[in-house]
Amino acid sequence: MNLPPIDSKFFLDFLTNLLNTPSPTGFTDQAISFTESTLAAFPSLSCARTRKGALAVIWPGQQANAPRALTAHIDTLGAMVKEIKPNGRLKLTKIGGYAWNTVEGEGCIVFAHSGQPVRGSILLTKASGHVYGSQVNELKREDDTIEVRLDAQTSDAEQTRALGIEVGDFVAFDPRVEVTNGFIRSRHLDDKACAACLVAAIKSMQEAGLQPVQETHLLFSNYEEVGHGAASGIPPVVTELVAVDMAAVGEGQSSDEYHATLCVKDSGGPYHHGLSQRLRQIAETFQIAYKIDIYPYYGSDGEAFWRSGGDVAVALIGPGVDASHNYERTHLDALLATTQWIMAYLLT
Ligand SMILES: [Zn+2]
Repeated sequence: MNLPPIDSKFFLDFLTNLLNTPSPTGFTDQAISFTESTLAAFPSLSCARTRKGALAVIWPGQQANAPRALTAHIDTLGAMVKEIKPNGRLKLTKIGGYAWNTVEGEGCIVFAHSGQPVRGSILLTKASGHVYGSQVNELKREDDTIEVRLDAQTSDAEQTRALGIEVGDFVAFDPRVEVTNGFIRSRHLDDKACAACLVAAIKSMQEAGLQPVQETHLLFSNYEEVGHGAASGIPPVVTELVAVDMAAVGEGQSSDEYHATLCVKDSGGPYHHGLSQRLRQIAETFQIAYKIDIYPYYGSDGEAFWRSGGDVAVALIGPGVDASHNYERTHLDALLATTQWIMAYLLT
């Protein structure tokens, strides 16, 4: 059996739009709505929001005696306003796990709880080389040495509060999406790239008139970056779960930006051997460009479901992403390979 073709233009358009929709964990409604409205083109799917705010999709299959699930997360790293400083700038608290230096100098949006969103930049408290000399290099990047400079006239806390900004407001980093020679460079390819793989797989199969062999539950989760995204939202009837999330590229890793990867072990231990073996076999059969890898500092929504008591086989696949939780990059080859793998899994 041949896999249906993938519409690369649709893929990149959807991915670019999703990347440009801010969705730090806890502030994901817009990204969930965008995904939901895209899937509305396929009336055989039934879409519903979970009470937690994720998007749960049911795709009827040829059979329903062993339903399956796939998940990808649309929440991203980000921050919240921790304090409004006496100088009118903002101290932040991180959402998700990353190092401050990976966002230093980045543009950002502060979603003021009342009033309009306010633009700004993430900067070191001692940012100017002409004023602070070697301290710009030497100062340790931590919560106390990073602040938001707002693009608004404010020099004290009162003026900042007058903009509608308060402690607890969400802050999103500019994704800076760029597509060049098949490379996609952006923040938050983790895990919007994989959400796009799921949506593209649905579109390809629907347009080819193909149905999954088993009833399939898709969860676009919204709390993965803080560890409990898919802890709920996958019904107990499901027998196996394939988490789709980025593969970690770097020294000593076998993953790269041109292949999909099967992750057999990460910080949470080994994935389900039987399901992993089946996915490897499927990749061989369908000649999908894949690698096998282990990620040293990594957890997934598959493990979140396991930890919450999910009694299913869990495996993890995804495209190689360079510089993860930093200014990330992947290639269309890895995205198409991942999408093919998803379709091959659904069809066998
Ligand atoms: Zn992820």
